Amino acid sequence: MRIAPQGTGHGSEPLEPLQGAMLLRTVRMRGVRIDPAAGIARAEAGALWQDVTVPAGQHGLAALAGSSANVGVTGYTLGGGMGWLARRYGLAANSVTAADIVTPDGRLRRADAGHEPDLLWAVKGGGGSVGVVTALEMRLYPVRELYAGALFFPIQRAAEVLHAWRAWTGTVPDEITSLGRILRLPPLPEVPEPLRGRDFALVEAACLGDAAAGAELIQPLRRLGPDLDTVAMIPAPALQHLHMDPDQPVPAQGDGAFLAGFPAAAIDALIAVAGPDADTPLASVEVRHLGGALARAAPGGGAQATIDAGYAMFAAGFTPTPELAAAVRAHARAAKDALAPWHASYDYYNFAETPASASAVLPRDSYHRLQKIKATYDPDQAIIATHPVWPARH
Ligand SMILES: Cc1cc2nc3c(=O)[nH]c(=O)nc-3n(C[C@H](O)[C@H](O)[C@H](O)COP(=O)(O)OP(=O)(O)OC[C@H]3O[C@@H](n4cnc5c(N)ncnc54)[C@H](O)[C@@H]3O)c2cc1C
Repeated sequence: MRIAPQGTGHGSEPLEPLQGAMLLRTVRMRGVRIDPAAGIARAEAGALWQDVTVPAGQHGLAALAGSSANVGVTGYTLGGGMGWLARRYGLAANSVTAADIVTPDGRLRRADAGHEPDLLWAVKGGGGSVGVVTALEMRLYPVRELYAGALFFPIQRAAEVLHAWRAWTGTVPDEITSLGRILRLPPLPEVPEPLRGRDFALVEAACLGDAAAGAELIQPLRRLGPDLDTVAMIPAPALQHLHMDPDQPVPAQGDGAFLAGFPAAAIDALIAVAGPDADTPLASVEVRHLGGALARAAPGGGAQATIDAGYAMFAAGFTPTPELAAAVRAHARAAKDALAPWHASYDYYNFAETPASASAVLPRDSYHRLQKIKATYDPDQAIIATHPVWPARH
């Protein structure tokens, strides 16, 4: 049988049909070990990010988690992993130091600095197409607290806010990772009162350093006069609430793209499809600022050693009914298409939620190397991954 390994299922949308395949769920493998002296976490394949960030935080250490506490460490990291510390410390995948992985021949292998260099390279951002990962080990960073939060503006100010944010991203150091966002919050009891049912333009930012340094860096955006300002010193594990992703998995769909740049014309194009006057079911349209460590070759980096794109866009909406799912898909596609003139040469692995070959979400050279590794370890394509890799034919 072919095998589709899966933790949470957050990344299941692009999967090929699974008829006749085995869905191999790792949800009961949530063990995590923190080695504070070595600054390393070991997470079993089914661990969620909150399983790592909370105990790591007790030692003053931070992991390169993403925006949501309930996303799986393994799927997120295999696809790159872009979080709140990305401009300073890079993609989560490039902080992986070792992987335990069962290859399709049934052998449990350890890939680390001294063993299985191809497998280690492949799991560092190349997706999960070479075997079933049973555990990952990764570097942690000494971040006890940081200056982070969101500035909320009325959605009518979206153009002004996004233009100001984009200009500001050209001035900030690698210590700041931020995004500009248009957010339409549903009128649901789960959403806290001051935000419930309201539409916003906002900037979310995480600044490594103390409050004084952070406040000085954020000041140009504060001067715009937000309605609500939550930027303050927070413990590193609290970063998982900054993006306000739902605490529990909810039906949602989206799509995204790497952008070579995000100039004024691109902002205007995005405002036309998602701004205050747009009739859209998209709850969130965000643009993340990349660069910094993401743009520099990570020492010992893997399939996504560098990201040759200045920004990343992701658009998503809630999909409780099939009709809404179709509408959200169409509008996410339209948001992506509106930015087509600024697309980078490939999309971001973790943000591509429509079926796509790994060749569409990885640098070309990486895809070709991955094809050779696939031919060695999984020539019969036993493993089904989010974005498929076709083995090289020798
Ligand atoms: C609310 C939310 C917030 C997000 N925020 C971010 C973010 O900030 N940054 C970012 O980069 N991404 C983000 N993502 C995208 C996320 O990284 C991807 O959806 C990712 O695929 C989720 O991984 P998972 O393990 O939770 O999902 P799963 O569906 O369980 O796994 C995804 C894929 O990973 C592979 N895989 C999983 N487990 C194994 C295994 N044991 N062995 C081999 N292969 C395996 C499989 O190919 C699987 O299809 C977010 C997603 C959501 C839903």
